[in-house]
Amino acid sequence: MFDVAIIGGGPAALSAAIYTARAGKTTIVFERSAIGGLVAQTNRIENYPGFIGAGIGLTDQMKSQAEASGAKLNYGECSKVEASPDGTCSLTIDSNTTQAKTIIIASGNEPRPLGVPGEDKATISRCATCDAALYKGKIVAVIGGGDSAIQESLHLANLADKVIVISRSAFRASPTLLTRATQDYVNIDLRQNTTLNEIARMDTNSQILNITHPDGRGEFLQVQGIFAYIGYNPASRFLQDSGVTLDPEGYVVTEPKTHATNLKGIFAAGDIEAGSTKQAITAAAAGAEAAIAAVQHLDAPTQK
Ligand code: NAP
Repeated sequence: MFDVAIIGGGPAALSAAIYTARAGKTTIVFERSAIGGLVAQTNRIENYPGFIGAGIGLTDQMKSQAEASGAKLNYGECSKVEASPDGTCSLTIDSNTTQAKTIIIASGNEPRPLGVPGEDKATISRCATCDAALYKGKIVAVIGGGDSAIQESLHLANLADKVIVISRSAFRASPTLLTRATQDYVNIDLRQNTTLNEIARMDTNSQILNITHPDGRGEFLQVQGIFAYIGYNPASRFLQDSGVTLDPEGYVVTEPKTHATNLKGIFAAGDIEAGSTKQAITAAAAGAEAAIAAVQHLDAPTQK
């Protein structure tokens, strides 16, 4: 049995792993896809004190630090979490069951679907850092109007011929990013209050976006690539029958500072928490706080 099982592989999870492993607790991390989470897919991080650069550079350092601290990093998808009356917890990872004395849920967010006809057959990327090179000299559309959409458009615009950013309402990205997009790049076309109605595939290289302009005029846009940055939903489906209290959107409700859930021995940290500010730095801090609380729980006299 592990002292601590951590679900997720982003900054909250890795920070928690560093803290619990350094406290001498046997620690295992389960990540379903890629260690580093969404931060690893972020082209440029500028607001994490002490680090400027591609997100993967930051999360690779966190990963090495967690492993050097003694945490075990594993791949596997958690489908079930249970708290037993005897104070232990069990997790179903793929088809195996793992026992742990405490759990830290740091499963973060998953990309929100666009919800338009044709989405299921379209090729849509959620990672400009991973896929931008495929669109060198091509026309791409970015769907979304927040910081992620603009940040990733800046990266795409260094390679693509043209980047058309389609936001269904007014852009909500920070003025700094919007100024950079308009002043530093002639090939970024920002279109706000524009509705995406449908996506159709034209051939293997091209897709057609059916859009409606603010004045009601329709247009069929032919693009080679589509990137979607329309926000995220909590990755908490596996908690639905666990007894862990979720808010109406599906985020985990936690206590301030300890990040304790309503179930003894189960904590949550980072973007998965209700009220999270969804920043890498606050997720890392939440991971550290949850880890400290988990260690205190393990060291409490009733646990011995
Ligand atoms: P976000 O701020 O939630 O923006 C989501 C965007 O997608 C909005 O423009 C939204 O439009 C649009 N949208 C949502 N559902 C849609 C749908 N079904 N169809 C079309 N458009 C849809 O998400 P985010 O940009 O990923 O940012 C998430 C958080 O991370 C934010 O707190 C952000 O500040 C932070 N972040 C920070 C940085 C940075 O550099 N500091 C970089 C990336 C992210 P509406 O406005 O109409 O809802």
